[in-house]
Amino acid sequence: MRLGVLGGGQLARMLAIAGHPLGVTCTVLDPSPEACAGPVASLLVAAYDDSDGLDRLAAASDVVTFEFENPPAASAQRLAAAVEVHPPPGALETAQDRLLEKRLFERLGIPTPGFRALDSQAEVDGLEQLPAVLKTRRMGYDGKGQMVARDRGQLAGAFAALGGVPLIAEQLVEFDRELSIVAARGRDGRTAAYPLVENSHRDGILRLTQAPAGGVTSDLRRQAERAVGLIADQLDYVGVLALELFQVGDRLLANEIAPRVHNSGHWTIEGAVTSQFENHLRAVLGLPLGDPAARGRCAMVNLIGEPPATESVLAVPGAHLHLYGKAARPGRKIGHVTVTGEASLEQRTARIAALAGEG
Ligand code: AMP
Repeated sequence: MRLGVLGGGQLARMLAIAGHPLGVTCTVLDPSPEACAGPVASLLVAAYDDSDGLDRLAAASDVVTFEFENPPAASAQRLAAAVEVHPPPGALETAQDRLLEKRLFERLGIPTPGFRALDSQAEVDGLEQLPAVLKTRRMGYDGKGQMVARDRGQLAGAFAALGGVPLIAEQLVEFDRELSIVAARGRDGRTAAYPLVENSHRDGILRLTQAPAGGVTSDLRRQAERAVGLIADQLDYVGVLALELFQVGDRLLANEIAPRVHNSGHWTIEGAVTSQFENHLRAVLGLPLGDPAARGRCAMVNLIGEPPATESVLAVPGAHLHLYGKAARPGRKIGHVTVTGEASLEQRTARIAALAGEG
């Protein structure tokens, strides 16, 4: 089977690696000849809106999928006219726009922080509920395109500072912790949900995932599984989908969805019976989904900027190193380490976090 992926970054790279043992070959399209999926897939170098490149990707693939949520809508449509495409472009449109996303949560009765759309500085100035988080409706990721306003003074000039584009304002949630749930939905509508995991961010970037999250009641798990299942069904979704959540007491509030394999699911490569990457392939290719159960507790530490010495990482028992083959650059995700095995997991994770420059 031949899978095409729009985007050739680390997510495409890990999809391609998961495909090898299943006999799935991958072609990735990326504007950069240095795309890090290149060494493990066939790389088509073209812009995401290059008609010829898109047609070549479609011709080389039985199914095309995406590794990011912002492909040009016309490109997704062009691909969909030529080849089977999963997830559906409509799901990407919703996930690209925080307002559509929040309205979807509301329609489905999924609790979410209070929000409103803001289309001008005048509307920003009229904001009554503070503190608030202002976010661009589109193209925000890793904490980019957003700001926290705690008092009216901070609202001055905010519309221009965020690029003069449509915004949403959200209530600033005093959450206990951030969780996420990753689920795969097959072409037959069956869903396999991974356990809830706990995520820690710094400077808007995910640093640490603990899987499964500790202290999760069956009620909390039910809330998360219900929410991700409703969203996937409503979007007629096929593939892996992530839902980011805030825990406040015994309630979960939906923050956002990611219509793709997700950084908070990287632990599944070693930590679950079937990885999120394999389950994404299985889902989009119409194969039976694999078991999403965790094999035990584990932790995933992102490597950001400079990589630690390989010898130091591998000297930590149970550490599984994944380098993405990307050039080091401040703030850039260049790899991750998953730490498995329950004995002294916290201490070993702390050693990896220290090597990664955290803590
Ligand atoms: P996002 O891009 O929406 O995932 O936001 C990035 C990070 O900002 C989240 O992981 C949270 O740590 C924080 N954040 C976003 N929205 C809110 C909110 N409404 N209240 C409190 N913190 C938030």
